[in-house]
Amino acid sequence: MRSCPTLTAYGRHYCAPPRRLVSLTFTSLHRHNSAQFLNFSLFTAFRSPFSRMETGTGSTGNKAMVENLKRFGVISSKKVAEVMEALDRGLFVPVGSSAYADTPLPIGYNATISAPHMHAMCLQLLEDKLQPGMRALDVGSGTGYLTGCFALMVGAEGRVVGVDHIPQLVDMSIKNVEKSVAGSLLQKGSLSLHVGDGRKGWGEFAPYDAIHVGAAASEVPHALLDQLKPGGRMVIPVGTYFQELKVIDKSEDGSIKARTETSVRYVPLTSRVEQTGGF
Ligand code: SAH
Repeated sequence: MRSCPTLTAYGRHYCAPPRRLVSLTFTSLHRHNSAQFLNFSLFTAFRSPFSRMETGTGSTGNKAMVENLKRFGVISSKKVAEVMEALDRGLFVPVGSSAYADTPLPIGYNATISAPHMHAMCLQLLEDKLQPGMRALDVGSGTGYLTGCFALMVGAEGRVVGVDHIPQLVDMSIKNVEKSVAGSLLQKGSLSLHVGDGRKGWGEFAPYDAIHVGAAASEVPHALLDQLKPGGRMVIPVGTYFQELKVIDKSEDGSIKARTETSVRYVPLTSRVEQTGGF
């Protein structure tokens, strides 16, 4: 049977629905502008088995969320499970939201925190490039949750940079990380969060073993390809309305190979004015 991660992830008995159905059901459906209500209603209509399931509060809820992701086959990596269990998602989402349900959540400024299964998928796709001591860039760091996971993966000897173009989100992400187990890495300087246009990357600590982009680009930004280390990997959603999660590997000789992991729906990688309408 051909591999079909988003569906086998939830233990369905079929594995070849129309591709579009895949994108409208279990992949990352981020609320966005005029399309947001359509997307969200489709998401709730075809949600994953625990997209609305509250799994408890605090570390108990977080642990149950990770257990569900393991049970449904989304998480297969021991390290990714450990890291997601250690970093409480509840500290990164707005108070009162369903922190541990498998669903994206609005975080303000027309942005969302991705669903836990998308974070798990991206962590696993990048795991080999998030080994202790390695360098990672998280473009569109939003709440700082995934950036914090990266920091726990690479540890104190590594270097992780998060970049978002909304200053208020960056301030919030720093506060979120400070409350979490990744707080000491922020303090020691192996993790930092910055305001900037992520389409330009972050030159200061380049090249990176791993680059993750949390917003959909109409095409892969050249600066990000330049800042990817030979032997490194980038995971980036590409497209406008219909988007694909691309896995881009740079070989030691600098040549680039790209493949599509799955269909997704992310907010766009854009300018601050476009995203916020100028407020
Ligand atoms: N990965 C994050 C947020 C995903 S939402 C999380 O899960 O919490 C996408 C994020 O990309 C938003 O926070 C948005 O502000 C940011 N973004 C969009 N375009 C950007 C750009 N050009 N530069 C930096 N950040 C950008």
